Amino acid sequence: MGMLTGKRALIVGVASKLSIAAGIAEAFQREGAELAFTYQGEKLKDRVEKMAAGWGSDICLPCDVTSDEEIAAVFAELEKRWGHLDILVHSVGYAPAQELDGDYLEVTTREGFAIAHDISAYSFVALAKGAKPLMEGRSGSMLTLTYHGSQQTLPNYNVMGLAKASLEASVRYLAGSCGKDGIRVNSISAGPIRTLAASGIKSFRRMLKRNADRAPLHRNITIEEVGNTAAFLCSDMASGISAQNIYVDGGFNTCAMSIEEMEEG
Ligand code: NAD
Repeated sequence: MGMLTGKRALIVGVASKLSIAAGIAEAFQREGAELAFTYQGEKLKDRVEKMAAGWGSDICLPCDVTSDEEIAAVFAELEKRWGHLDILVHSVGYAPAQELDGDYLEVTTREGFAIAHDISAYSFVALAKGAKPLMEGRSGSMLTLTYHGSQQTLPNYNVMGLAKASLEASVRYLAGSCGKDGIRVNSISAGPIRTLAASGIKSFRRMLKRNADRAPLHRNITIEEVGNTAAFLCSDMASGISAQNIYVDGGFNTCAMSIEEMEEG
């Protein structure tokens, strides 16, 4: 029996086989969960439907997280098909490309700021509003994905860093809102991984190298490792964990300088 046997999970954020959400889906299926997916726009429909079928799911619904109507339709369909929900995974992030290229003060705009926060932070609240009524009385779990750029600055990550800081604070407030109903809310702060979203960040290759050089594990992490942590966090094995941000980054966030960097002079 898997860690997630008997649980029903909605995974939002699969765009390709490289997606962190794909690593999560793989681990959830292996651990016995029944899965539902969403896709952003018609362009991704066929690809996500095929991937969903590969994970044994025939529930694949359109959902642009900027649309309250599409979000409502997703949860109405899940209520019809399943009647309840145990797990919500939010693996969504976006900022306009020009916000992620150059000096923060110069490139950040009112519009880009609003878009980044709406799609990357508010959307978790919007999805949680839809998921909570289906989770009541079921020890539910909600999970989102964040990045250490929320805590420390790095070139070009810019307004995404602010959106991730907002998302992490939102995890704590949502945990407070949902805890009395037995629902846990957490985030995973993943180290850099080459995905479609990551390709929008300038100098990403250098980020990967810096992370691998400095992290105590001396390597980058994989979507499979994030998936395994997500499976644990969303299982009853993690029943005492809520309002937490768990790093899956090889330990990078704890290390100001590696021995190699020190010796390089
Ligand atoms: P990805 O491109 O595979 O996934 C991003 C997802 O966001 C896509 O499925 C895309 O369709 C979705 N999305 C964007 N705008 C949307 C909208 N308006 N409506 C619905 N969906 C929308 O990239 P990923 O790296 O797997 O990103 C998943 C999450 O992980 C993001 O929150 C990202 O910030 C976070 N993260 C990524 C890394 C990394 O290095 N790749 C590190 C830490 C955290």
